[in-house]
Amino acid sequence: MKTKLQNVKAVKEMLAGTHKTQTKTIISFENKDYVRREVGEQWSDEFGNQWEQKKGYKVKLGKLSETRKEVSKFTNCSKEICTCTTPSQADKKMMMYHGMCLDCVISMEHTLTIEGKYKEYERNKILENAKAWLKQAEIEKEILKTGLKAQYILEDGRVEEWEGGMTPEELESKIDVEFEKFKTEFIAKLENGND
Ligand SMILES: [Zn+2]
Repeated sequence: MKTKLQNVKAVKEMLAGTHKTQTKTIISFENKDYVRREVGEQWSDEFGNQWEQKKGYKVKLGKLSETRKEVSKFTNCSKEICTCTTPSQADKKMMMYHGMCLDCVISMEHTLTIEGKYKEYERNKILENAKAWLKQAEIEKEILKTGLKAQYILEDGRVEEWEGGMTPEELESKIDVEFEKFKTEFIAKLENGND
């Protein structure tokens, strides 16, 4: 059981780009130059990455240059009305979706309501969110397939047939077909909407 779980964990890490084979150079560099950090301390390494020390672990804040550029990424903010100089977490989240701060998003949505375009905008927004969610679901589906495959392989390397009479390949393709069917129907339902 433990090895199966480790397989799933490894796939997850591979997909996220955090597997030890993908981060090897960074790990060896840091072991060589180990510095003890205080909780809350921020620093940048020789690659320009910014880090923050948390209790027992550290998080990568991104490239220093990227952090500096952050404010200028609010490219869709209205120059006339925007007062956002120190973006909050909510502003940053809005920037990822809309390229503008929260206040500018609210004002933009207000304008759309007046122009009678809000419903269409909202439907597109829901669709975009759904597509992002489906992308994540697709990754999880692949993890599930890998996990299932691991359960078929017996200790001597022979491949076991599933009790439903399906081979692992047949079950895998069934998962793919079902997922594609679900995806198509899900998107179609959203696109047709219900006003
Ligand atoms: Zn703004």
